[in-house]
Amino acid sequence: MRRADSFSSISSTSSSEEETMQVFVKNVSGTSTIPLTLPANTSISTLRTLLALRHNLLPSDLRLVHAGKHLSSPSTTLTDYAIPPNATLHMALPLRGGMPPKKIRCSFKDCKDAAQRIVGDCGFCSGHFCGKHRLLEDHKCEGLEDCKKESHERNAERLNSERTVAIRGV
Ligand SMILES: [Zn+2]
Ligand SMILES: [Zn+2]
Repeated sequence: MRRADSFSSISSTSSSEEETMQVFVKNVSGTSTIPLTLPANTSISTLRTLLALRHNLLPSDLRLVHAGKHLSSPSTTLTDYAIPPNATLHMALPLRGGMPPKKIRCSFKDCKDAAQRIVGDCGFCSGHFCGKHRLLEDHKCEGLEDCKKESHERNAERLNSERTVAIRGV
């Protein structure tokens, strides 16, 4: 009977020695943070499974990021990754399932070039154009009729001034 007592005391001691730590996990969109209390020796795969269940995702579709670093090794524990208590981890989806980085394409017909930032924006038709199509004439701007005159005048002005320069240079 004494033996049984000593056995139970041993097992209770060992389980209370298990260290736990709290971490915060931000969801994919960054809109909510889940506090989790976990044993410090929790592996990344266990944590992934836990979070995947909570978010209706496949564990294989879930990535964890800490301080900009992907926690990519499933068997590595929180301690091994040197993740401190109260650290914030980020959930991320792999690129194939996630959203591709936003790149604005030229609005002109079948043009597949990337639109230029700011200088490619047309104030007349609110399109975004590449270097080849950013001029009103080049993308056949809907507001072209209105501004045709204006740009013609501007062109004429420029030609005149160029001519003047040329004449002066002679
Ligand atoms: Zn274009
Ligand atoms: Zn335009």
